[in-house]
Amino acid sequence: MAKDLVCGMDVDPATATHKTEYQGQTYYFCCPACKRSFEANPAQYLKG
Ligand SMILES: [Zn+2]
Repeated sequence: MAKDLVCGMDVDPATATHKTEYQGQTYYFCCPACKRSFEANPAQYLKG
């Protein structure tokens, strides 16, 4: 399972429809809102 770094939910990469690429890595999200939040400020979520 991948983790939605915005809200902390587990996301199945096989069925995830909300995903983005950042610095060569693919990140998965539970919903468009989480994806937008991540894209607005990836560094904030990546540093944990
Ligand atoms: Zn989420």
